[in-house]
Amino acid sequence: MSVSNLLENWSKFRHTHPVDDKGHPDWEAYPSDIKWAMSIDLDACTGCNACSVACYAENNLPVVGKEKYSHGQAMHWMRIERYWDETAGVGEFSADQGARFLPMMCQQCEAAPCETVCPVGATNHTEDGLNSQIYNRCIGSRYCSANCPYKVRYFNWYNYPEQENAWPSPLNQQLNPDLTVRTKGVMEKCTFCKQRTYTARNNAKTEGRPVQDSDVQTACQEACPVGAITFGNLFNPESQVAKQWQSQQVELTKEVQDKDEKEGNRLRGYRILEELRPYPSVMYLERVRESAV
Ligand code: SF4
Ligand code: SF4
Repeated sequence: MSVSNLLENWSKFRHTHPVDDKGHPDWEAYPSDIKWAMSIDLDACTGCNACSVACYAENNLPVVGKEKYSHGQAMHWMRIERYWDETAGVGEFSADQGARFLPMMCQQCEAAPCETVCPVGATNHTEDGLNSQIYNRCIGSRYCSANCPYKVRYFNWYNYPEQENAWPSPLNQQLNPDLTVRTKGVMEKCTFCKQRTYTARNNAKTEGRPVQDSDVQTACQEACPVGAITFGNLFNPESQVAKQWQSQQVELTKEVQDKDEKEGNRLRGYRILEELRPYPSVMYLERVRESAV
């Protein structure tokens, strides 16, 4: 896309706000028949890191090593965060008070704070509700990373294939041909495995039918040995993800979830930092403690 096209159609690439701009023609036009979303069951997650490793392999991520990691140059699109209860104290484990694991990646916010600060419109919204990153438009200002409340954007400080020899032959043969290897000076992050969703959408369109759950799995979802990750089209009421969101009474365009907390109906669904109103597309299901049952 040319710069003149970008400037002429600026408002289209600045996604309208899902709540404040309801009624705005761009927002009315937006909801296509697909809105990709995810849910992650923290009660099932064992913190094994299989999802993170699968993401590295699927999305051509370089392993940067300890030293660069310690300099804040990590490249993991999905990371496993660990939290301990304050009462247990760090490192003090007991059967029901161990670490909580939380897989964290781009939350594909509907009102993404990263999108509004990019000076060249390199990050913007797709019609299927994803926060995209256009690598060959990115100028490396890193404003998006500064403005992301989840800190899930990663900057290429090096030309990993050439300068760093990140995939010495024959390892370069394992690179996924369905997407690029990013170059120095470019920002990147989880795409909800765009190369897979794009293929699923196109296949469904060719066959003249809506996208179904069986059409697509993200790499992290596919690798999870305990099935903690569910992914699909939130606009399809038959999808697993839509059923989970609905059963947990979590709604995309609400910043405070208005839940029915009747006794015996304890709901576990929540979105991280939703009070900041980025309207994330990832719902987490709280871990259930044995002591709380
Ligand atoms: S999580 Fe961060 S990078 Fe992802 S859409 Fe939200 S603000 Fe942007
Ligand atoms: S959805 Fe795809 S890109 Fe995002 S964390 Fe999972 S494997 Fe990585």
